[in-house]
Amino acid sequence: MKVVKFGGSSLASGETFRRVKEIVTSDPERKVVVVSAPGKRSSSDKKVTDLLYVCHAHLRYKVEFDDIWENIAGRYREIAATCGLSDAIEGALSEVREGMTRRATVDDIVSRGEYLNARLMAEYLGYDFVDATEWLAFRYDGTVDYEKTYAQLREIAKVHPKMVLPGFYGALPNGTVHTFSRGGSDVTGALAAAALSAECYENWTDVSGILMADPKIVENPKTIERITFSELRELSYMGAEVLHEETVFPVRQANIPLYIKNTKAPEAQGTLVMESFAEESEEERSRFITGITGKKHYSIITISKNRMAEDISFVRRVLEITEKHRLTVEHIPSSVDSISLVIATADLEYCLHKLIADIREECAPDSVKVCDGVSLVAVVGRRMAAATGTSGKVFAALGAKGINIRMIEQGSDEINIIVGVMDADFATTIRTLYNSFT
Ligand code: ASP
Repeated sequence: MKVVKFGGSSLASGETFRRVKEIVTSDPERKVVVVSAPGKRSSSDKKVTDLLYVCHAHLRYKVEFDDIWENIAGRYREIAATCGLSDAIEGALSEVREGMTRRATVDDIVSRGEYLNARLMAEYLGYDFVDATEWLAFRYDGTVDYEKTYAQLREIAKVHPKMVLPGFYGALPNGTVHTFSRGGSDVTGALAAAALSAECYENWTDVSGILMADPKIVENPKTIERITFSELRELSYMGAEVLHEETVFPVRQANIPLYIKNTKAPEAQGTLVMESFAEESEEERSRFITGITGKKHYSIITISKNRMAEDISFVRRVLEITEKHRLTVEHIPSSVDSISLVIATADLEYCLHKLIADIREECAPDSVKVCDGVSLVAVVGRRMAAATGTSGKVFAALGAKGINIRMIEQGSDEINIIVGVMDADFATTIRTLYNSFT
């Protein structure tokens, strides 16, 4: 059997519900369906989850929010009417509305977007509705209790062979609702697939798979047909918005192939994510790289001290200071007499001056310089490790464009090369690299 998850834009209206039903029913193996809350119908529209967060804020400050609630309820009524469903949703809507004033924890309120959508989808498909609180178990620290989660869903699946599950939330040990961070329905689908040892996990969204680069920067980028879990992790960490970052772990551990597919173009191949691929296609072999992505707004803090290399505790002392300030140091390029710390500028907003003062006091450097406005751009590809000349091509292409590289880094597993450039060169860097590798 297959576990299929549909994102908010695939479930935003009655019309998109119809498309989802066609997809599900076209393959009898699609027996477990995970749904998000209704997303945007157009770019000016609002996501139901966002509106639910707004409801919670109103409740908290005791501001009346009937108009927002009516907007939310209207979304579900439209879906029920367009799909010719019963008026059972009315009872569920009143229950949710009443519950808001009674229980009103933020997680409880925002989880109702998925809950109501799953109720509708279950009726529409003729599948059983199974609430996420019955199987998806969180610990009190917010981490997933995998063993309990898997065991509970396996038991449930014995009596509900075809079911619709709301994404995004589960239950704490005391039964109260707890949610993942935003976009968490992806993780719910991955957990269901792993629990039930699914043949595959299909994640349906509104793009035909993962693109080689951001379409806002590169015109019509190619779709990545096949990508490994490690590559996907690199691309996601470096800025590509694909799946919730916790999605990969359950399916990777259970060795379940993950497909990213487009509800609007179901016949398009999409992207297949797996641990590794036995054979590479001709096209893959001719192109060393899998994708290009990046993040803006980093700062490089350069600490210089004459004969630094001889002071063997210097780097440790610097890192103890960054740890004290709870900073994530992305990269640490170094030379004989200096080291640099690459840190997101936003993280330094409230602590930069204290950080520098601490470094001056504890490490007595000759100078500390800060350069803001740096972007990190990553070129990711599993075939880079076996190929020579990839980094040469990166630097030659950027050099020819007159782009100054502020920093270079390559992971020792050789699946990525990261360059630091100025923010103003960000888009040109990505475009230049894309054009030189495709
Ligand atoms: N509805 C939730 C959100 O908007 C979760 C999800 O869609 O995955 O973040």
